Amino acid sequence: MEKKIRREDALEYHAKGRPGKIEVIPTKEYSTQRDLSLAYSPGVAEPCLAIAENVEDVYKYTAKGNLVAVISNGSAVLGLGDIGPEAGKPVMEGKGLLFKIYADIDVFDIELNTKNVDEFVRTVKILEPTFGGVNLEDIKAPECFAIEERLKKELNIPVMHDDQHGTAIISAAALLNALEIIGKKIEEVKIVVNGAGASAISCSKLYIALGAKIENFVMCDSKGVIRSDRPDLDERKSLFVTTRDLYTLQEAMTGADVFIGLSKGNVVTQDMVRSMAKDAIVFAMANPTPEISYPEAVEARPDIIMATGRSDYPNQVNNVLGFPFIFRGALDVRATEINEAMKLAAVRALADLAKKSVPDLVNLAYGESNLMFGRKYIIPKPVDPRLLTTVAPAVAQAAMDSGVAKHPITDWDAYEQQLAR
Ligand code: NAP
Ligand code: MG
Repeated sequence: MEKKIRREDALEYHAKGRPGKIEVIPTKEYSTQRDLSLAYSPGVAEPCLAIAENVEDVYKYTAKGNLVAVISNGSAVLGLGDIGPEAGKPVMEGKGLLFKIYADIDVFDIELNTKNVDEFVRTVKILEPTFGGVNLEDIKAPECFAIEERLKKELNIPVMHDDQHGTAIISAAALLNALEIIGKKIEEVKIVVNGAGASAISCSKLYIALGAKIENFVMCDSKGVIRSDRPDLDERKSLFVTTRDLYTLQEAMTGADVFIGLSKGNVVTQDMVRSMAKDAIVFAMANPTPEISYPEAVEARPDIIMATGRSDYPNQVNNVLGFPFIFRGALDVRATEINEAMKLAAVRALADLAKKSVPDLVNLAYGESNLMFGRKYIIPKPVDPRLLTTVAPAVAQAAMDSGVAKHPITDWDAYEQQLAR
């Protein structure tokens, strides 16, 4: 359970010993003169020549294939806003730690001192030879959209802006399962999305890819309902305009089946939740303070299915359920991109895993005796070791099926055993 973290404890954790959270460790023996002659000159010339002859051999002789760049400019860090590249570095190192412990992926975190889209894109583009994949992180909207779109086009390795797609994938899995539990169809539900930023737009698009109807969405930003008569809308918000006679969040939520909160804390009241349709689904995902707290929402609506971004209540929507395993699958088949098919495969794998019986060690980690698919358990828990062995293969398979895998897996049993080690 989440305990209040004290400032001094967090600072001490980061400062003690060697400052920061990650280091680089050699993977080959280096104790003898011979080892060193192999690792560096003259032996190292051989892999250099092999790669010069066949560039794909870079995957065979270097760390590229297991190395992801976590790249940020610090312009939208956590809920802290534009705090700059150095101040964002603890988060990027933290992401490196999570990649490593959950999926054994190595990370170089890279903090760029630019907000200029062209400069950002150009910089990442010329870094491509080093990395097997690029995780864009904590870049503010709208720049994040252009940066990701262009890099996806221009790079031949998988690129994903996790703040957009990670959240979309995890929350979509949770949404599919919540709908299954209450017996509503995604094609029919009325969905209110509060927030129209990086995560809200991407979530809405993915729900549409899963069958939700765009005409059933009402989206709100800081100025209220995104209506067709508003003059201030950009291209992305314009996709989600409504012509219905709705102006406020309260009006939008009345009778709605699903509330998706990706805005800010404490903007939803118990009365708003009470005004929703039967078996209301409320994902209040603003961090660290949700749009409405778990206890308040559940008190207002005993029939609710509620998720938040917090670990101290049931149904935590946390990106760590996605990015380590999505990149694992993508890297393992040398995917040239992370495409819609791969994202949808991750959604389905996550949703399915929540329906399987829960291992003891997961129950134990959460002080539960019997976690079971239902209103209080709609998505897997981050500590579940089966995430790696189910989500990564699903993503790898989807990459192969969609024709973006340069190095298809042929022996699936061996692959799954390798993952389980
Ligand atoms: P973002 O790109 O900055 O977007 C924030 C959006 O919220 C903007 O569209 C903004 O409106 C809108 N907003 C602000 N105040 C509002 C209000 N009172 N009512 C309605 N909308 C309001 O941020 P983001 O990256 O999408 O993240 C949004 C929130 O979701 C943050 O709290 C973040 O921590 C959380 N989040 C959680 C998870 C998770 O896994 N739990 C994942 C991603 C994000 P304008 O467009 O008018 O400025
Ligand atoms: Mg982030």
